[in-house]
Amino acid sequence: MKNQVQESTWFEEDVGGNTLAELDWKNFFLLETPGDEEIGGLPRQVPGACWSRVLPTSVPTPQLRLWSDEVGELLNLQRGDELILGGNQVVEGMDPYAQRYGGHQFGNWANQLGDGRAITLGEVDTGSEILELQLKGPGITPYSRFADGKAVLRSSIREFLCSESMHHLGVPTTRALSMVTTGEDVVRDIMYDGNPAPEPGAIVCRVAPSFLRFGSFQIHALNGDRETLRTLVDYTIRHHFPEHSSSTDDGLIAWLNQVAEETAIMISHWMRVGFVHGVMNTDNMSIHGLTIDYGPYGWIENFEPNWTPNTTDLRTRRYRFSNQAQIGAWNVARLLESISPLMEDAERLYACLETYYTTYEQQNNTMWVNKLGLDEFQESDVELIQELTKNLQLVETDMTIFFRLLSSMEEPSIDHLQFAFYAETAIPKEEWNQWLESWWERVEGNPNRTIMLSVNPKYVLRNWMAQLAIDAAEKDDYSVAGELYELLKDPYGEQPQHEEKWFQKRPEWARHRVGCSMLSCSS
Ligand code: AMP
Ligand code: MG
Repeated sequence: MKNQVQESTWFEEDVGGNTLAELDWKNFFLLETPGDEEIGGLPRQVPGACWSRVLPTSVPTPQLRLWSDEVGELLNLQRGDELILGGNQVVEGMDPYAQRYGGHQFGNWANQLGDGRAITLGEVDTGSEILELQLKGPGITPYSRFADGKAVLRSSIREFLCSESMHHLGVPTTRALSMVTTGEDVVRDIMYDGNPAPEPGAIVCRVAPSFLRFGSFQIHALNGDRETLRTLVDYTIRHHFPEHSSSTDDGLIAWLNQVAEETAIMISHWMRVGFVHGVMNTDNMSIHGLTIDYGPYGWIENFEPNWTPNTTDLRTRRYRFSNQAQIGAWNVARLLESISPLMEDAERLYACLETYYTTYEQQNNTMWVNKLGLDEFQESDVELIQELTKNLQLVETDMTIFFRLLSSMEEPSIDHLQFAFYAETAIPKEEWNQWLESWWERVEGNPNRTIMLSVNPKYVLRNWMAQLAIDAAEKDDYSVAGELYELLKDPYGEQPQHEEKWFQKRPEWARHRVGCSMLSCSS
């Protein structure tokens, strides 16, 4: 028997605002790009379309479990409306649709993918910006292929908490407004090993300027549909990059330079905080340089550059932590190729790839300058950084704790960093003392601690932390998820009251637990 539903006591007092029905809904994407003539319907190929109209599937008992007061405020929206956020109701002004896009998955062109389990409700004009509201997990769409279009509670909690915490870490990301449980079980075979089991279903409402991806453009280019590609590029630039022109090579290059830059910046932030996306397929790359599609992502705990959280990626480790910048470049190159049919001189697109590399290098240098409290980047710092990353791998060393403790170092002593080591008795003291002395000399005994403390977070959503929130939520207790949501609003704050519980290395129980050390795409 299910536990009694507990009150979600962590909700703050509602600040008021409009209901969803009272928002200023727009449907620019539907009005200005070509779509499917059929409404809803079974999974199928939809050539020439950018979208298909489709309604969310009703669920038995939608219940609001998580709510972002900040995203609510962005939209001037009051908490509630679980019927709409659970997909049971559509109000006037909304015109729900699933987007059609393609993608390279693990390096291979997969052709049509699309929103298989996402439905956009519409775009909201907040007065200062246009934001798209999209439900993730509301049932089948023409792009669901062989699956059910639904999402489970565990992956929904992970998406909600992670997107909100990334925002507070200063990492460009899509946001999450709400998470609703559906009251319906969804069957998943988590480890793809022939053990399907029912799990509670849930729906996240996520928010972004748009959910256009690299794959949104690729699908038309790779199918030789230059006309639709042209329309979509014109639309994208007109609505989202109005400072550029879509009708000249110069304008397209300027736009793509911006996308390349924003993508490089996003990935350098991932590297700064130890985030591994896990599925950097081109359909999961936002045209706005936002972290999008939270699936089998993970956080580096012990510093292991080869780590990938995604079990599907274990063989080649294409999406490992240390390979993310390179994959970003590969993905940008695929986007550039897909815009080439619109260019008079397509050779010029190489410049945008250069922009990506140059931006990433600059960002990466700045990242190290800040993480280590240096004044400015010098060529000789390369060796200091190499030695550091080498040392971090000598024995299991927690990345987040290490940099946080380094940020408050008063004298170059390894004792101050002891807590960052998993086996505190086996610290390679000689190597560390050597490195600490070089660093101390480099910063002349006075690292810029203020900057260090503002870029080296104290709290991140470690995999086991999310798992604790999930374990509780599966027993109808959302207090842990609420606690983490609040904690991660201030990841650079000391928050001493939370230190003992959350400023911690990965506990032993999480070392080999599914959902902590390994994650699958099944969600
Ligand atoms: P992802 O790996 O989550 O980026 O998904 C890749 C593709 O599979 C996208 O087109 C998704 O919409 C689709 N997809 C993933 N899970 C489901 C599901 N449960 N039902 C329908 N489509 C799905
Ligand atoms: Mg995706």
